[in-house]
Amino acid sequence: MKPRFSSAQKLNQWRGGFVHVECEVDLQSRFTFVLPLNQNHRPETTDKNTMYHRVVLLAEDNRTNSEMVSEYLGALGYQVIIAQNGEEALEKASETQPDIILMDIQMPKLDGLDVTRLLRADPRFASTPIIALTALAMLGDRERCLDAGVNEYLTKPLSLKKLSEVVAKLIS
Ligand code: MN
Repeated sequence: MKPRFSSAQKLNQWRGGFVHVECEVDLQSRFTFVLPLNQNHRPETTDKNTMYHRVVLLAEDNRTNSEMVSEYLGALGYQVIIAQNGEEALEKASETQPDIILMDIQMPKLDGLDVTRLLRADPRFASTPIIALTALAMLGDRERCLDAGVNEYLTKPLSLKKLSEVVAKLIS
């Protein structure tokens, strides 16, 4: 009788599954992989900076901008939800409880500053990171945005790389 080896190792760091290996010397080996198939399961990684399934609410009335930002952040693994005006931004913030909000300042119905003030007055969004996005470059704009309660301020045209860096920093 040939010696038989059996081992099972639980790989907690790897998708919560485990691999089981049975082998007999000079004979066939059997490998069993057990992986959870749960639709709600988030891809796991030891990297705490993973962006998978982080929800970004993008409040932006300019469709070209929103598509560009959405595609870029989407490719990085974020789930991007778009609101096309200030009122919609408030509605979708309530519906989706985003991890971070990108706030265009010049929007119809309610501008980004008003939306930010309303969100900050709501305990659910008191500490949600908000990044102001604005084409305005007048002196004092930065202060107006910070006074309204945003965490960061980026001017258009946006650097998508810079935007993704700021998002990653604020979300972690
Ligand atoms: Mn706008």
